[in-house]
Amino acid sequence: MRIVPHWINGAQVEGAGDRRLPVWDPATGEQQAEVVAATGAEVRAAVQAALDAQPGWRAASLSRRAEVMFRFRDLVDANRKEIATLLSSEHGKTVADAGGEVARGLENAEFAAGAPHLLKGGYSEQAATGVDVYSIRQPLGVVAGITPFNFPAMVPMWMFCNALVAGNTFVLKPSEKDPSVSLLLADLLRRAGLPDGAFNVVQGDKSAVDALLADPDVQAVSFVGSTPVAKAIYEAGTRAGKRVQALGGAKNHMVVLPDADVGAAADAAVSAGFGSAGERCMAVSVVVAVGAAGDALVPAIADRLGKIRVGPASDPDSEMGPLITREHRDRVASYLDTAGGDVVVDGRSVSEGPGFFLGPSLVDNVEKESAYYTDEIFGPVLSVVRVDTYDEALKLVNDNPYGNGTAIFTRDGGAARRFQYDAVCGMVGVNVPIPVPVAYYSFGGWKASLFGDLHMYGPEGLQFYTRTKVVTSRWPDPATSEVDLGFPKVR
Ligand code: NAD
Repeated sequence: MRIVPHWINGAQVEGAGDRRLPVWDPATGEQQAEVVAATGAEVRAAVQAALDAQPGWRAASLSRRAEVMFRFRDLVDANRKEIATLLSSEHGKTVADAGGEVARGLENAEFAAGAPHLLKGGYSEQAATGVDVYSIRQPLGVVAGITPFNFPAMVPMWMFCNALVAGNTFVLKPSEKDPSVSLLLADLLRRAGLPDGAFNVVQGDKSAVDALLADPDVQAVSFVGSTPVAKAIYEAGTRAGKRVQALGGAKNHMVVLPDADVGAAADAAVSAGFGSAGERCMAVSVVVAVGAAGDALVPAIADRLGKIRVGPASDPDSEMGPLITREHRDRVASYLDTAGGDVVVDGRSVSEGPGFFLGPSLVDNVEKESAYYTDEIFGPVLSVVRVDTYDEALKLVNDNPYGNGTAIFTRDGGAARRFQYDAVCGMVGVNVPIPVPVAYYSFGGWKASLFGDLHMYGPEGLQFYTRTKVVTSRWPDPATSEVDLGFPKVR
C-alpha cells in the first residue's frame, strides 16, 4: 500500500507512527493509499524546521519573497493538469472541476506576488517637533493551516501564499482524506526557490491538529472545515494565545424572485447545487422560491437533473463524480428518507458500481424544521423552500445560523440592491450563484460560518499574517536636548 509521507525541512519524511488512515479511490471504492498519522515528535519536527527557517526567510528581501511567489505561480500554471488529475483521483471531483479549483488557487499566488504593495506601512513626518512616526508590518513567525477535504489545492493556497510572502513560515495539516496534493504543492514551492523548512506538511487528523494547537511556537492558525471543529479550534487556539481564523460550514440560500429568468435560475441552481457533488462550502443547498417562481422552477431543475452525467473523474464525459467516502455517501442518501419535504428526483436510483456515487436529488416544499433545511447535508441534495414574499425569503436567510454565501436571482435592480444591503451573510451574489470573491477581495462568512475577526486571503489575509509595529523616532539634536519628566506631548 502506498504511504503518504510528511514534508519536513524540504524533503519527504515517512511517518513512524502506528495509526494508519485509509485514502480511498471514491470512484472504485477501493483503498489506494495510507496516511500514517503524525506523531507528536513529527509535528514538533515540522514546527522546529519552520522555526529554524523563519529568520532567514524573513530576512530575504520583499522582492525576493515576491519572486518566489511569481515562480510558484508559473509552476502551478505549468502543472495544472497534473495537480488536477492527482486531486480528482483522491477527491473524486471531475478533472475539469479540479482544474477550476487549481485556477482559483493560483489567483492567490498572483495576489501574493503583488503583496509588497499592501505590506507598506504609514509615515507621519514631524508628528512632534523633530519626531517622525511610522508603522511597519512584520510577520508573526511560524503559522499553521488546517484544511478540509473538499478543496485540497485551493484552500491551502488561500493560506500559505499570503503567509509566506509576508515572511512567515508554514506548517500545513491537510485533510487525511485527500492528502497527496499537499506534497506536490510543497515540491513546487521548493522548485520555486522557497528555502527548506519554510513550508512543511504533517499528515494526520485530530491528533496532529491538537499537537499544533498545543505548540507554543505556532503563533497563528488558519482553519477551514466544519462548524463544530472550527469553533473548537478557535476556542483552543485563542485560549493558548494564538491568533485564529476558523472558517466553518454553510447552508447557502439562493433566493429566486418571480421576475427572474427561469431558465437562467434553473441552470444556476443546478450548477451551484450539484457541482463537485454538492461538496462545496459555497454550494447552493436551498432554493427559496418566492411567490409563483417555484411552479416553473422546480420542473426546470428536475428536467436538468435527468441529464447530468454521473461517473468517475477519469471519464472526460463525467459531469458529477462520487462523494468522498462510503459513510458520507450513505449519510447524504439517508436524508431522502426523512420527513418534511416532497422528493421530486431521488438520486439513489443512480448507481455506478462499487464507488461512492449518489445521483442528484431534488426535494420540494421543504419545511424549515426538517433536517433537509436545518442540516448542512454537503452532498447532491437540493431543497426548495417556497415562500410568499421577499420579506419571508430574507428572514429565512437572516435567521439561519450560518452566514457564508447567499444569492438573489431577479431582473429588479432595486430588489437586488435591497437584498445586498439586508442579507446577514459574508458573501452575496446577484444573479451569480457561487459568489466566491476574487483573490484581491477576501473570503469569509458571518455567524456560524466564521470564528475570528479577519476573513481569509486577499487584503484581510495579509492583515491576519502580519502584526503592526509603530516606531516613534527622533534623531538627536544636541541643541534642543533636555530632561522632561512629563508624558510625551505632540504640541
Ligand atoms: P472537517 O471539519 O471534518 O475537517 C477539516 C480539517 O480538520 C481536516 O484537516 C481534519 O483532519 C481536521 N479535523 C477533523 N476533526 C477534527 C477535530 N475534532 N479536531 C481537530 N481537527 C479535526 O471538515 P471536512 O469534512 O474536511 O470538510 C467539509 C466541511 O468544511 C464542510 O462543513 C464545509 O462547509 C466546510 N468548508 C468550509 C469552507 C469555508 O470557506 N467556510 C470551505 C471549505 C469547506
